[in-house]
Amino acid sequence: MKRRVENKLKKEPLISPDWAPRLSKKEIAWLYQMDATGIRDKEMINEVAFGILARCQSILTATEALRGRAACPVCRGIIKHTGKIDEVLDCPDCEWQGPWRAYQKSFQRKQLVAGGMEKFFEKYVNELPSAKAPQEKMVMIDTLIHRS
Ligand SMILES: [Zn+2]
Repeated sequence: MKRRVENKLKKEPLISPDWAPRLSKKEIAWLYQMDATGIRDKEMINEVAFGILARCQSILTATEALRGRAACPVCRGIIKHTGKIDEVLDCPDCEWQGPWRAYQKSFQRKQLVAGGMEKFFEKYVNELPSAKAPQEKMVMIDTLIHRS
């Protein structure tokens, strides 16, 4: 079993999970400025709204991973683990395997911790995709930003 893991890791480059970046203060400030002048650029609002959505999803994924439920970087399947430093994650749904240590390292120091904000992130992720009017999205962005 161990040998199989080693061979596999040597053969293929390790696919690491992707983590969405934090939105820059500049982007947020720009959005507010536009909004204050009454200009609602639908595309810009969408870009920021879905940028924040991706960021929230990354935070929720990292939080779950730390609780022992890591999302597979290939198929998003849930890999249960105990968080031991030398543990190898082995996806039950596809062929992906990788050391937990590397997985954890991929999101360390990226401020991907939900803390007390978890339920607000969840609400945003669940509700944003069904918001239609730019104004509606603006309110959701604003609510989330003022909670964090
Ligand atoms: Zn998988």
